[in-house]
Amino acid sequence: MNIYLDIDGVLRGAASPVEDRVELLDYILTNFSDSTYWLTTHCRQDYNHTRAALFNSDLPKELVERASTIIQPSNFAVLKTDAIDFEKPFIWLDDNLFESEQKVLESHGCLVNHFYMNPRDPEMAKKALILLKNLKEENANTN
Ligand SMILES: [Mg+2]
Repeated sequence: MNIYLDIDGVLRGAASPVEDRVELLDYILTNFSDSTYWLTTHCRQDYNHTRAALFNSDLPKELVERASTIIQPSNFAVLKTDAIDFEKPFIWLDDNLFESEQKVLESHGCLVNHFYMNPRDPEMAKKALILLKNLKEENANTN
């Protein structure tokens, strides 16, 4: 399963306590090390500024370094959905969804694959972690 990960409002600038965001990111790096992609305006077309963006946050520096080595860049021009591989199962963690992106997801029957990370919800990172753990378990049971 591919994971597409936003930064602003998800890993930084979110109400979730730092320890919950650390646990979420650590879980992703440990369990989805070969299938996680950045999907953020800090990484598009010709540049990848994700490392700098994360260094400018309250996340521990060594975790940022780990994330920077493991998480792969993605490439989109206007719509984030342009970077999504619809041939593979995925979950997209993001605090924002444009109407145009929603339409693309709907056209692929994939609206449920977008997990809304409400930046004002202090439980958000916890909820995302539970979701990923459940999906991991489901995957293990079907394979
Ligand atoms: Mg965002």
